[in-house]
Amino acid sequence: MNSHTPGKISNKRQKRSRKGLTKPHRLPLSDAMDEIKRLEQLLEQKMEKYFKRRERWQARWDPATGRPTEEQMKDSTEERLRAEFFKHKDAKPRCYSCRINHAVMPSGSEAPNGTEDTELLPCGCSYNGAMLQMFLAKSGLFVKGEGPDSLGVQRVLYVKMFEVFFGKFTFDKLVNGAGARLEAAKKQAY
Ligand SMILES: [Zn+2]
Repeated sequence: MNSHTPGKISNKRQKRSRKGLTKPHRLPLSDAMDEIKRLEQLLEQKMEKYFKRRERWQARWDPATGRPTEEQMKDSTEERLRAEFFKHKDAKPRCYSCRINHAVMPSGSEAPNGTEDTELLPCGCSYNGAMLQMFLAKSGLFVKGEGPDSLGVQRVLYVKMFEVFFGKFTFDKLVNGAGARLEAAKKQAY
């Protein structure tokens, strides 16, 4: 037999692949079981967090349970503005743009479920952008016949512009609560 026989070639390959599997993969069985248990617990914790986050978001935006109460609105400007997204009793809350443009609500896997990186409204629009626009709408920015009816898709840009002037978008800065905008603008001085 010479070195070109199939048997020898496959032996070489096996040796090579065994070499590739270095020692860390060879945990004693009990250690491996402990590691699996640890990972299972980690996964369970992550899933619980994920479910809780989803539940909280669903309760917050459910047309039946999420609408801010009179009490909450009295105590918080943010809740008063958030209530504006809940226009109709049974309809899912939507932002100002989606409402006035009669946008179709996303459904199925397209619909947000509260586990997104940033908070979204059920219409799929960003909470910060929706808040900025609702605040501007309530402040009288949109006048029929004088320019656009809403910020539309430009909202993303307006939130970014806000952040250029005032740093990270917060509700306090938006409504200038306790002069928050002045402080923020000083920090952002160019
Ligand atoms: Zn929207």
